[in-house]
This record gives sequence, C-alpha cells and structure tokens, in this order.
Amino acid sequence: MDFKEKIRVIQNFPQPGVRFKDITTLLKDGQAYQAAIDTMVEGLQEKEIDLIVGPEARGFVVGAPLAYKLGVGFVPVRKPGKLPAETIEESYGLEYGKDSLAIHKDAIQPGQKVLIADDLLATGGTIGATLGLVEKLGAEVVGAAFFIELTYLNGRDKLKGLDIFSLVQY
Ligand code: IMP
Repeated sequence: MDFKEKIRVIQNFPQPGVRFKDITTLLKDGQAYQAAIDTMVEGLQEKEIDLIVGPEARGFVVGAPLAYKLGVGFVPVRKPGKLPAETIEESYGLEYGKDSLAIHKDAIQPGQKVLIADDLLATGGTIGATLGLVEKLGAEVVGAAFFIELTYLNGRDKLKGLDIFSLVQY
C-alpha cells in the first residue's frame, strides 16, 4: 500500500512554513490503518519485545495496536500531572522553552525489552525524552517505530544509534 497517499499534508500548520503531516486521513481509513500496523509488525518480526512504550497522544494510536498484535503490554508516557501513581519525569527542549514527560515508576522492570512507538519522528525531542525515562527505569530499549520520519530534521542523530523503523519518510 502507498501510505504516503493516505497522509494529508497541511501547509503552514501550526506555524507559517511548516508542512504538517496529518495522519488522521490514514487513521479513518480502516484498511490503511490496519495495513500500516501489520506492516510495522512485519518489520519488527526479528525483535524480542516485552513492552511497547508510547508518548501521548498519537503514540497511543500507534503503540496500542502494535502491542495488541504482538501480544505484549503497553505503557503510556504522559504530560506531568496526568498519571495517578508515583512517576519520574524528564524534560526536553522545544523550539521555544521546555516541556516534560512522565512515566509510572513501576511501569517497567529493569532488563525488560522495550520498543518505543510514536506517529512521527521530527527533531527527536519527544522520543529522546521518552528514551530517557525508559532508560532511567533500567529497560533495554530494542528500537523505535514510527509511521513517519522527517529525515531532514535528523531526529536519528539525537537517538544514539537506536534501531529506527519508519513506514514512510519525507
Ligand atoms: P519531535 O519531538 O520534534 O521529534 O516531534 C515529534 C512529535 O511532534 C510527535 O509526537 C508528533 O506527534 C509531533 N509532530 C511534529 N511534526 C508533526 C507533523 O508534521 N505531523 C504530525 N505530528 C507532528
């Protein structure tokens, strides 16, 4: 399937000059959504995975169906203040200012094999922070999987040689 054909590109959103990749057009197409997840699962066949970790909110849309298909657990990473039990946090730089992400302290046992999932890899800030959280909990990160990779933003460089799988690249 040509997944690029299913992704809508919106000019000048959320700011002038940005060409936003809108995956809602892929998600509402049942066959395309299913094919996207199935293709990712095929690409991950070689990997031993105990848990999928995904940052809110679109990381849930990719990570949860992957976890279901692989028969492994899903762990949410959220903005601070949303998770009810004890958490750890990691902050990361945005273009202007800073943001933070949080994970439950008991969500991962040391040595568990974790795959990180999100819709899109841009500069790598979000996934870098997610990686930091998961590593603090002692996980072995086996890779990261995305629907989309914006290769011109070099997000991979921030991710220390992590094995990265992406369905489509721009
Ligand atoms: P990064 O932290 O710069 O890698 O940005 C990745 C995060 O920003 C992901 O969680 C995406 O959901 C979001 N994002 C950035 N650019 C786009 C885009 O063009 N389309 C959809 N989401 C985007």
